Amino acid sequence: MPKPTPGNRPPRRPGAPSGRKPFHRPEVPAPDRKTPDLGPDGLPQVSLLRRGVERWQGGHPWIYRADLNGDPALEGGEVVRVVDGRGWFLGKAFYSKHSKISLRWLTFEDEAVDTDFFRRRLAMADEMRRRALPGERTYRLVHGEADLLPGLVVDRYGDCLSVQFLVPGTEQRKQLLVELLVELFKPRAIVNRSDVGVRALEGLPQEKGVLYGTLAGPVAYDEGLVRVRADLLEGQKTGAFLDQRDNHVMAAQYALGEALDCFSYVGGFALQLATRAERVTAVEISEEAAAQLRENAAANKLTNVEVVTANAFDFLRDAVDEGRRFDSIVLDPPSFAKKKEAVEGALRGYKEINLRAMQLLRPGGYLISASCTYHINEQMFEDMLASAAADAKRRVQIIEKRGAGKDHPVLLSLRETRYLKCFVLRVL
Ligand code: SAH
Repeated sequence: MPKPTPGNRPPRRPGAPSGRKPFHRPEVPAPDRKTPDLGPDGLPQVSLLRRGVERWQGGHPWIYRADLNGDPALEGGEVVRVVDGRGWFLGKAFYSKHSKISLRWLTFEDEAVDTDFFRRRLAMADEMRRRALPGERTYRLVHGEADLLPGLVVDRYGDCLSVQFLVPGTEQRKQLLVELLVELFKPRAIVNRSDVGVRALEGLPQEKGVLYGTLAGPVAYDEGLVRVRADLLEGQKTGAFLDQRDNHVMAAQYALGEALDCFSYVGGFALQLATRAERVTAVEISEEAAAQLRENAAANKLTNVEVVTANAFDFLRDAVDEGRRFDSIVLDPPSFAKKKEAVEGALRGYKEINLRAMQLLRPGGYLISASCTYHINEQMFEDMLASAAADAKRRVQIIEKRGAGKDHPVLLSLRETRYLKCFVLRVL
C-alpha cells in the first residue's frame, strides 16, 4: 500500500457511469487489530470501504460502521485521519465506537483539528447569525453537522447559552468548547442540557447542570411583541423551541376571534395569538409548562389566555363532541415517531388531531399545523393533511409552507435533517 501523502488526495470523481466498474483496487478486509493504525500526523487512521468513499464524494457528513474497513480499535471520541482503501487522505472526523454512525466529518482538508480549529468553526457559525438575524439575541448559534460542528448544539438566549454535547467527540472536548464559548461570546451562564435520549446511542449518560457562571430561575427573551420566559435548566429541550420562533411571530397574523393552541409548552404560539385574538385557549399536558405559560401571559398583561392542563387528543375530541367552534387553531405536537417503524402510527396521530381541528374551525378559519417528526417529510405531511381534509369534508387552502428559522441551516448533502414542517392552512 503506498504511503499516504499529507495534503494529497485523489481528485473527486463526479461518479462513475453505471455499468462501468470504478477503478479501484480490490479491498482486503483489515485484520482485527488490538492497536490502532497511526497516520503521518500521529492521529489514529481509519480506512473506508468503497461505499464509504462514495458517501464522502457526495459530501454526506457521516460514515456508517459497515462502510469502515475493519474495526479501528479505538475507544471513541478521537479525531481520526480517514483514508481510502489505497491510503489516500479523505478528511478528519470524530470517531464514535457505539453508534452505527462511526464517523462524523470535521474537515476535508489536511488541517490540524486543534483549539483554533474549533474557534474558527464557532466564529463561522456566529457570522451567519449576525448577518441573517441582525440585532437578534436569541437563536440557535450552533446547529451541529449543519454548522460543520457535529454533535454540538448551542442555543443562545440573550446572554445565556444552553448547550448539548451529543457525541463522544464533543463530550470529551466539553471543557475546551466551554472555554471557547466564554472567550467568543462572553455569556453570563452556560447550561449543559445533555439530558437527551440520543446520547444513549453513543454510550453516553444523561447530564445536565450549569457549566459556567450562575443561573437563577428562568431567562427572558423577546419574540415579536411578546416577552417569553423559559427555564434553561429544567425546561424542555434547551429551555425552549427556538426552531419555531419565526413561526410564533407569524402566527399573530392569522389570529382571529376565538383561538386554540394545542401542545402549548410555555406559550410560544398562544401568547402571539393572544395579541390579536379575542380569547385563546392553550392546551398543555405538563403542569410545569402550563404554570410557566400562565406566568408568561400575566407578565405580558395578556388577560385573554385560558390555560387548560389536559391531553390535547382528549380536548380536541371533547370539543368536537360539544360542538365548540374556533377561528384560529395551532397544532404543534411533540415528535410522534422517534423511529422509522413508528411512522404509520405517527401519521394516524397527526391525522386525528388535524381532522378534529378542521372540524372545529369556522369557515374561513386558519389552521397552523406543525410537525417536528424527522421521519415524516413535507410530502407525507401534506398527504396526511389532504386526507384529513377529505374526511372532515372541508375544503382547505395551503397559504404557507414553512420550516425552521434561518438559525437552523440545512446542509445540501443532508437535506433529510429538514425536520420541521409548519403549514398555514385556511379551512373554507
Ligand atoms: N408549541 C410549543 C412547543 C411544543 S412542544 C412552542 O412553540 O413553543 C410539545 C409540547 O406538547 C410540550 O410542551 C409537551 O409537554 C406537550 N405535550 C405532549 N403531549 C401532549 C398531549 N398529549 N397533550 C397536550 N400536550 C402535550
